[in-house]
Amino acid sequence: MTDKNEQHKKRQQKVKEQVDQRIEQAQIEKGVLQVITGNGKGKSTSGFGTVARCVGHGQQAAVVQFIKGLWECGERNLLEQVGVPFAVMETGFTWETQNREADTQAAQATWQQAKQFLADDNIDLVLLDELTYMVSYDYIDLDEVLEALANRPTMQSVIITGRGAHRRLTELADTVSEVRNVKHAFDSGVKARAGFDF
Ligand code: ATP
Ligand code: MG
Repeated sequence: MTDKNEQHKKRQQKVKEQVDQRIEQAQIEKGVLQVITGNGKGKSTSGFGTVARCVGHGQQAAVVQFIKGLWECGERNLLEQVGVPFAVMETGFTWETQNREADTQAAQATWQQAKQFLADDNIDLVLLDELTYMVSYDYIDLDEVLEALANRPTMQSVIITGRGAHRRLTELADTVSEVRNVKHAFDSGVKARAGFDF
C-alpha cells in the first residue's frame, strides 16, 4: 500500500472512532425542536423534506403555514393526498401586510390549529412554516408559543422556519440551522418558478 493510502486509512480510522463514540453517547430518545432561520433560500423546503421523511416512515406529520403565499403550494398538493393535514392562514395575510387587525385575527385562528397539533400525541412531526414572523409582528404571543412547544408530547418533533427567529425560540430549540444567502436567482431577475420556488 502506498504511503498516501496508509495515511488515509489511519485518518479515517480515527474519524470512525470519534463518530462511533459520539453515536454511543447519543442515547436520549425524544422529539427534536428544530429552528431553520436565516436569509438564504431553503428553509421551507428543508422543513418539507423532513415531512417527506416522516411520511416515508409511515409516521404522521402535520403542517401549519403562517404565510399564505401568492401561489399554489406544491407540497400541499402532494402531501394532503397522503394524509398530512394542513392548516393554512386563510384570510388576508401575505408578505404585504396592511391590515393589522385582520392579520392578527388570521394568525390567531391558525395558531389555535397549531396548538391542537402540538397537543396531539398521534402526530410525530409538526412543521410550523414561517412562524417566526408571527412572533416578530406580535400577532402571536411568544410566551404562549414557548409554552405550547415545551408542553408538547415528548416524542413529537417540531420544525419552525422563517427569518429572524427570536432568541428565545433558538434557545429552546435542540437544533438550529441558519441558511445564509450567498446568491439568489431572484436578484439577477429570474422569476419565481412553480415546482422550484413554490
Ligand atoms: P424556500 O421555500 O424556497 O425553501 P425559504 O423558505 O428559505 O425558501 P422564504 O423567506 O420563506 O424562504 O421565502 C419565500 C419565497 O422567497 C420563496 O419563493 C423563495 O424562493 C424566495 N426566496 C428565498 N430566499 C430568497 C432570497 N434570498 N432572495 C429572494 N428570494 C428569496
Ligand atoms: Mg419559507
